[in-house]
Amino acid sequence: MSDPKLLTTPTSPAGSRRMLLVLAHPDDETLGFGGTIARYAAEGVEVHLVTATSGQKGWVGDPERNPGEAALGRIRREELRRAAAILGVRNVYFLGHTDGELDEVDPEAIVTEIAAYIREFRPDVVLTFGHDGLYGHPDHIAICQFTTAAVVAAANPGSRFLHGFEPHQVSKLYYRAARPGYMSAYEEAFGELVMHIDGEERRSPGWQDWVITTTVNAGARWRQVWIAVRQHRSQLPFYERLQSLSDERHRYLWGTQEFYRAMSVVNGGREKETDLFAGVPAWALTAAA
Ligand SMILES: [Zn+2]
Repeated sequence: MSDPKLLTTPTSPAGSRRMLLVLAHPDDETLGFGGTIARYAAEGVEVHLVTATSGQKGWVGDPERNPGEAALGRIRREELRRAAAILGVRNVYFLGHTDGELDEVDPEAIVTEIAAYIREFRPDVVLTFGHDGLYGHPDHIAICQFTTAAVVAAANPGSRFLHGFEPHQVSKLYYRAARPGYMSAYEEAFGELVMHIDGEERRSPGWQDWVITTTVNAGARWRQVWIAVRQHRSQLPFYERLQSLSDERHRYLWGTQEFYRAMSVVNGGREKETDLFAGVPAWALTAAA
């Protein structure tokens, strides 16, 4: 809990659509959701981002030059702020937890904190990682579970620890999904995605087509996302291969994002969506709290 909170929610035009992303590390927003953020922000949606850790263990350079966790956390929070501004995020809020330890955080405390943010901002749509954490990352899986719980808690008038804000029912909750083709393109760009957790090897072959409910096309925004990617300068050694990718490959990596509609109170069925706000009726478009 080292980072100052940003408790002031900027006011948005009455009746504007609102989207909240709840993620684990600085750069998750850009690498995993950048095209989606850029597209919706450009369409006038008010986008806010909650990031649970400062990525303070994510040193990818020469070990001799690691500035240490506190300094790296500060650097990465600043990188995130710059990237978020380029993508069009209106407010960034850090929960201040430690990178790599998110699944050890007290669930009641973090769920309450996320739910309070939801009650204050009153988003129509919430985005987070899926149950697989995209490639098995325990922090991504933890934030999926906490965010899902927070969406439930925010709507529950009986929540014990959420005094001070009116309950809020999110219309739709999405998990980031990825087809096998996307996972291979990602590995081609970043190297092999494998995690060794509890003596097991975690890989992600990608989701089957029929599980994916929603594909967001943000191809027109790929250059904007690529600029945002490069704000995460402390991670540049990790991004080295990206420099040599073709425009077409960049467009695919940043401009095509897939989701699983984990919860919706406004639509259902098997029809494939191309808009995260599909089914959100005008009355649900966040009358300001
Ligand atoms: Zn991450």
